[in-house]
Amino acid sequence: MRVAVGGYLVAVNTFVAQRLGREHFQHATLTGETLLTAGRGESAIAGFLEYARTHQWEIVPLQFVVPGVGGLITREAHEATKDAFLAMLRQAGPVDGVFLQLHGTAVAEHVDDCEGDLLAAMRGLLGEKVPLIASLDGHANVTPSMVEHASVLIGVKTNPHYDFVAVGQQAARIMAGMCAGVLMPTSAWAQPALVPSLQKLYIAPGWPMEHLMRQAQNLAARDPRVIDVSLLGGFPYSEIPQTGMSVVVTTNNEPGLAREIAEKITAACWAKRHAFTADVVPVADAVREAIESEDGPVVLGDLADSGGAGTPGDGTVLLAELLRQNATSAVISNITDPAAVQEAIQAGIGKQVTLTVGGKVDRFHGDPIQISGRVRVIQDGVYRAATPFNAGTYRRGPTVVLDCGGVEVILTSRPAHGFEVNHFRSLGIEPTARKILAVKSELQHRAGFAGIASKIIDVDTPGLATPILSRLPYRKIRRPVFPLDDM
Ligand SMILES: [Zn+2]
Repeated sequence: MRVAVGGYLVAVNTFVAQRLGREHFQHATLTGETLLTAGRGESAIAGFLEYARTHQWEIVPLQFVVPGVGGLITREAHEATKDAFLAMLRQAGPVDGVFLQLHGTAVAEHVDDCEGDLLAAMRGLLGEKVPLIASLDGHANVTPSMVEHASVLIGVKTNPHYDFVAVGQQAARIMAGMCAGVLMPTSAWAQPALVPSLQKLYIAPGWPMEHLMRQAQNLAARDPRVIDVSLLGGFPYSEIPQTGMSVVVTTNNEPGLAREIAEKITAACWAKRHAFTADVVPVADAVREAIESEDGPVVLGDLADSGGAGTPGDGTVLLAELLRQNATSAVISNITDPAAVQEAIQAGIGKQVTLTVGGKVDRFHGDPIQISGRVRVIQDGVYRAATPFNAGTYRRGPTVVLDCGGVEVILTSRPAHGFEVNHFRSLGIEPTARKILAVKSELQHRAGFAGIASKIIDVDTPGLATPILSRLPYRKIRRPVFPLDDM
């Protein structure tokens, strides 16, 4: 067996003004040997390669484009990425199959569905018979084009996601079955008229998505004709007509069965739609509750400016309220402000500085605010997450901790995602020794601080990742759709 492997892993928030251009892609593209060793033990590619190596497959590395989360991809960046994939595939010569790790929320200035566009182009080159299998993030917004041009799409079954390796291995097993002539995958895609809030996609006991996912996996396990059932929660901030929840069912050449199961799950999701509406506490109430709480740490989730949702990360509303209510033993996971970081670095460790921070990128995340404090830490901002999900190395750029008395402020040069303990510990801040942790995260903080937090309060801050979806300027999404329309 000779198989080509690659990935296009980018999440796009179509509402933010910033763009993801070629400069972001160039610094985040792995090829050759670096692709083959990337994300070992963490990525779908790693899982696929594990199986491939065990079975002595010959691997042809394409490219793994991993620029992270941001605004719309420029026309130039997407076209160059697609062209490079096609050139590499042509150069590879005949292959028995292709595996791609995709996110499922890539939108460019000129293409709504970058993954569908890439899969269609690859399919054109490969012909109809060669297996082209892709893994998807659980937040994928799946489109008919993706389903049509991939042989199989497999989504992760966890949220936060920690089963990428298993999904990659599953993809390899399916590819082996297809090449042996044992499997003839046929897929059905369906979606309810539902865009869930990210906050409610947590897969843990008692949460609606856990119930639906279990139901979906039971249907898959019960019938040997079913190859995979993927239930995707969708990503509300990446707007295309299909944004939101969807299900992809793959059977072994049983199209009727695939359709039947997809519709059954879709109906179950629709019946639970009200459970997916966001549930947040006004900023002043949340801060008061945290201050008055007897035990710490109380985690305050700044959902609308999450590091996982492509917003600027410079929202100031929660920080301003903590200062206004004279909070003590509080820490802000991040205000992304490279200019303020440079000012603090120039002042130096131990120096007292007054800086105007945050609220600089757009008008959606609060106003710039003036803070005074002592520069306690100056660092390169690189650390490894301590969690089995969202694993890997994070690069926040030059990072500073400013001690403002009752409130410590972490200033980063690049957007950060303070969803777990090492974000703080890497900067010499022990999260369990603080009363209040204000974190820019939409969901992962629930899992990241489980067992540490005395209480988790999701706060109604303003921002372009607000869980109150009716506040966002949707214009392309199919209508009617819940909760934007009263259904
Ligand atoms: Zn995800």
